[in-house]
Amino acid sequence: MSAPLPRSADVVVIGAGAIGASIAYHLARRGARDVVVLERDTVGAGSTSKAAGGIRVQFATRVEIEFSQRGIAFFQRFEDEMGVPCDFHQEGYLFVITDEHTLARFRTNVALQRSLGADVRIIGPDDARALVPSLMVDDALAAVWGPSDGYASPNDVVQAYATRARAGGVRILEGTPVTGLRLERGRSPECPRECGRLPRGPAWRRPGPRRWARRSRRSGPTPRRARRPPPATAPGPARRRGR
Ligand SMILES: Cc1cc2nc3c(=O)[nH]c(=O)nc-3n(C[C@H](O)[C@H](O)[C@H](O)COP(=O)(O)OP(=O)(O)OC[C@H]3O[C@@H](n4cnc5c(N)ncnc54)[C@H](O)[C@@H]3O)c2cc1C
Repeated sequence: MSAPLPRSADVVVIGAGAIGASIAYHLARRGARDVVVLERDTVGAGSTSKAAGGIRVQFATRVEIEFSQRGIAFFQRFEDEMGVPCDFHQEGYLFVITDEHTLARFRTNVALQRSLGADVRIIGPDDARALVPSLMVDDALAAVWGPSDGYASPNDVVQAYATRARAGGVRILEGTPVTGLRLERGRSPECPRECGRLPRGPAWRRPGPRRWARRSRRSGPTPRRARRPPPATAPGPARRRGR
């Protein structure tokens, strides 16, 4: 049985996954006082609780790398800021490379990563085996080692966000599916759900990986690129140390 809907809210976040819970937490932290999160199931029940938990700077674009660097800095101070641990361990990501084409691609990526200050190194097969003695490196040309990479518990992370968001005054309503959005006069979305409607909420966040860029009236047509769902992130390294 879901909780009764408030009559109104300044900000409505749809979905209490890692992203929605993080947004709610950060809004509360910055002083937002009337934030509601509508979650059809329970906090973290979506893809967040099913993620492997990998955290790495080893990506191919500047944006991804810089995001990860900021993420790693956050996970390093997570317990201080959130008051609970999230099982964050920097045991490193080790990619073992067995063909020239892939090695060339990694060299390009590593050059970009290092130019942005990330600690990522191309090492020889013997150095890789020194890190992971059980590793078979007979066919390896090289390996790429990112010692600051690691993993954390996605469920611990989302639960911590939700707990701190609630402590900051955010109302998180579980068992509350949003069934539609209706724009009135081009703004002021209403949010009907199974047991009610939540009027007046200027800021909205759509849940899950298929969220698309919203059009703003001033920005004109959404560029074709922004209409596509973002590409799925890789589930993790081919061979990871310690996992
Ligand atoms: C620490 C950490 C490590 C990660 N590691 C990896 C990794 O190694 N590899 C990888 O690929 N990804 C990883 N991820 C990312 C993860 O796989 C997900 O992409 C990410 O957590 C998605 O978050 P989300 O909030 O966008 O979506 P979700 O977690 O899916 O949250 C969306 C929420 O919206 C709710 N919802 C949906 N529709 C409605 C509706 N109509 N009304 C109300 N509620 C609704 C759902 O129930 C769900 O709870 C990691 C994430 C974290 C936090």
